[in-house]
Amino acid sequence: MKIAVAKGDGIGPEIMEAVLKIFNANNVPLEYEVVEMGKWVFDKGFSNGMTPEAQQTIENLGILFKGPMETPKGKGVKSVNVTARKTWNTYANNRVFQTLHGVDTVFSKVGIPIDLTIVRENIEDTYGGIEHMLTNDVALSRRFITRGGSAQVIRYAFDMAAKKGARRITCGHKANIMKLTDGMFLETFYEIAKEYPQLKADDVIVDDLCMKLVTRPDLFDVVVLTNLQGDIVSDLCAGLVGGLGFAPSANIGDHICIFEAVHGTAPDIAGKNIANPTALLLSGIAMLRHLGLMEHAATIENALLYTLEQGIHTGDFGDKSTPSLNTTQFSDAIIGNLGKLPKANPKALLPNQPIEHKVEKLTQNPMMDTTFHGETKIAGIDFFVESIEQPAPIAEKAKQLESDKFKLINISNRGTQVWPTGSVYTNLVDSFNIRFEAKEGITLTQKDTIELTLKASEIFKICSTELLNQFGEKKGYSLAQGQ
Ligand code: NAD
Repeated sequence: MKIAVAKGDGIGPEIMEAVLKIFNANNVPLEYEVVEMGKWVFDKGFSNGMTPEAQQTIENLGILFKGPMETPKGKGVKSVNVTARKTWNTYANNRVFQTLHGVDTVFSKVGIPIDLTIVRENIEDTYGGIEHMLTNDVALSRRFITRGGSAQVIRYAFDMAAKKGARRITCGHKANIMKLTDGMFLETFYEIAKEYPQLKADDVIVDDLCMKLVTRPDLFDVVVLTNLQGDIVSDLCAGLVGGLGFAPSANIGDHICIFEAVHGTAPDIAGKNIANPTALLLSGIAMLRHLGLMEHAATIENALLYTLEQGIHTGDFGDKSTPSLNTTQFSDAIIGNLGKLPKANPKALLPNQPIEHKVEKLTQNPMMDTTFHGETKIAGIDFFVESIEQPAPIAEKAKQLESDKFKLINISNRGTQVWPTGSVYTNLVDSFNIRFEAKEGITLTQKDTIELTLKASEIFKICSTELLNQFGEKKGYSLAQGQ
C-alpha cells in the first residue's frame, strides 16, 4: 500500500527520516509518496500551504503521515495543519498518553500508571475562526456545535473504546454554562452510550476533569471532548506523561486520515539532529495499527519501549547524568532493539490483518438529515446594538418598537440582564442585546422580524441580529444571566 508523506518544516524532515528508517528496518510493507506541503510551499506562493498535486495525491491515497508544519506569521494566513484537518473532515483527533518506563514523571516516580486516550472533536467549535468586531471594543467569536458533528466524533470514541476493551468512557464538557452547545454534545454522548451497554459512560465538567486528571489520571480511560476543551486537556495530558516529545496524534475521518506528532516544528533545535522522534514514531505506530499492520506496530513499539527502559534518551528527557543521543543515534538504537521485549507492558504480537483503507468520494451530506420533524417557529429576535447610553434610556427607545406582534423582553450586556431589572454594579460595555419576543398567540414570520429590524435601524446602530428559534416546546436560545 502507498501512503502520502509530508516531511514538514523545522525538525520535521529529521524526525520523519528517523521514523521511516525504523519502518524500513522492520520491512513495513508500505510505499511512501512524498508530497509538497508546509511553510516552504506557502513561501513558493501556494496560499493553503500545499501544491495541487500534493492535495490530489493525498486525496487519492487517503493516508497522510506528516511532520510538523510552521504557520506563517501574519494576519489572514491560516495554519496548513488546521486546513488539512478541516478540508478532509478528519473529525476525530485521537491522542494516546501512556506511562513510558524510562521517561520520568511525577506519576511514574510514585508508581501511578497512566494509560489515557483523549478524543477531541477536530472540526467545529471556535475553530471555525468565525469572529466579528461588534464595536471597536467588543469582539464576538461564533462557536458551532452540531448534532451530526458531535455524533461523528462521539461514535468514533465509543467504537474505539469498545475495540480496545476500555473500562470507562467519559464526556468532558461545560454544559452547566453552555447549555445549548455543550448541552447538545453531552445529550448526544448519552444517546450514543445506549448503543454500548458494555461501557461505563459518565461525564465530568471540564474544570473538574482537569483537577482530577492532575491528581488521579489513572481513574480515566477514554475521554471525549469538544475541540477547544479537547485541545487544552490533551496538552495537559501530554504533560502528565513527560511532555510533547511523547504525544502522538491521529486525525481520523471516514475517507482521509492524518497521523502526526502533537508538537510543532521546534525551530530552536531545527537542523541540529537532536530532536526526539518518539512522538512521530508513536503516531506512525498508531497509523500501522489503523492499517491493520498489527505485528509491525507491536514489534516497533516493543523496540521503542525496550530502548526507553534501557535509559537511552535524547537531550530533551531522561537521566541528565548519562549522555544523550542525537536523533540518528536514537533511531539506530531502536533499530538495534527490534525483536526485543520490554519488561513493562510488552505489546502482544497480534498477526497483521489485510490492509484496507477505502477512499470514497463524499457524494452525500448525511449530517444534513435531521431527527427533528416537529414544528419550528420564530419566537423573536435579538438585536446587538452599539450604544454608550444607560439601560433605562435604551429601553425607552426600544419600547417605541413594540407593536401588536412584538414585546420588549429584556436588555442585557455581556450576557447579564440590565433591564427591566439589574444591578448598578454591572460594568457595562458599549454593546447591548435587546430582545423582542412574539406577543401571546402571534405567529411570527421572517418578514416580521425584518420589518422590525428596519424600524430598529432608525433608532439604533445594529451590529448583529439573531433569530430566536423554537423547536417544538424547546427554546433555541439562552436566557440572559438574571433573566
Ligand atoms: P513546538 O512544539 O515546536 O516547540 C515547543 C518546545 O518543545 C520547544 O522548546 C521545542 O524545542 C520543544 N520540542 C518540540 N518538539 C520536540 C521534539 N520532538 N524533540 C525535542 N524537543 C521538542 O511549539 P512552538 O514553538 O509553539 O511552535 C513552533 C511552530 O510549530 C509554529 O509555527 C507552530 O505554528 C507550529 N506547530 C505546528 C504543529 C503541527 O504541525 N501539528 C503543532 C504545533 C505547532
